[in-house]
Amino acid sequence: MANPDAGLFLVADGMGGHAAGEIASQLAASTIEGMLVREASPDANVPEILRLAAEEANQRVFEAQRQDRALSGMGSTLTVLFFRGEKYYIAHVGDSRAYRLRNGSLDQLTRDHSLVWHLYENGVLRKTDLSTHPQKNLITRSVGSHPQVEIDLEQGEACEGDIFLLCSDGLTDGVTDDGIRGILNARLSQPQQMADLLVDAANLAGGPDNITVVVVRIAANNTTAGAEGKPGPP
Ligand code: CA
Repeated sequence: MANPDAGLFLVADGMGGHAAGEIASQLAASTIEGMLVREASPDANVPEILRLAAEEANQRVFEAQRQDRALSGMGSTLTVLFFRGEKYYIAHVGDSRAYRLRNGSLDQLTRDHSLVWHLYENGVLRKTDLSTHPQKNLITRSVGSHPQVEIDLEQGEACEGDIFLLCSDGLTDGVTDDGIRGILNARLSQPQQMADLLVDAANLAGGPDNITVVVVRIAANNTTAGAEGKPGPP
């Protein structure tokens, strides 16, 4: 989801069957957007509001699946990027990712909450092995799966020329960090072009998973221009 006027961008990748996953994803996204647009006044404590919003999203998804057995087992990843003044703020749960390209180098700003990431951090797997590991779908934290969820919060300075990328694992399963950096570095002028190219690259890699990407470029005066990329109908 991209709401450049509010400085708000997010990816929520649903799980638990296609229909239920879509419900979890949309419920998480609309909860975050509603709370941030309503409560993020200029003097607000942004990390605190982000954390409360993510906890609220967790509760609503959890409640929804408790009340409808057809939705049992659903959940969602959640990676939120919010701009306020000169800064960016991230709230994150699950195995979607936030990246930042600055001066040509790409950094992943989030840690995946997954078994394979744990193995990677402990030196058991290489990063390039994560997407093909048989247990890659074992996620250790998600929104709506439990009554409580722990949320990672990050923040930093946003600089003119920075490009931020939020993406579901449908992108990173097929496209390596080097591939992502190559596309973001290609000096395309519009975030939409970058988003479409990333989706095309993931489709070419043949991943069966749904692909969601959001690309945000920081222009002069720290204004954000963002675009969402999703595969079109087959
Ligand atoms: Ca996925």
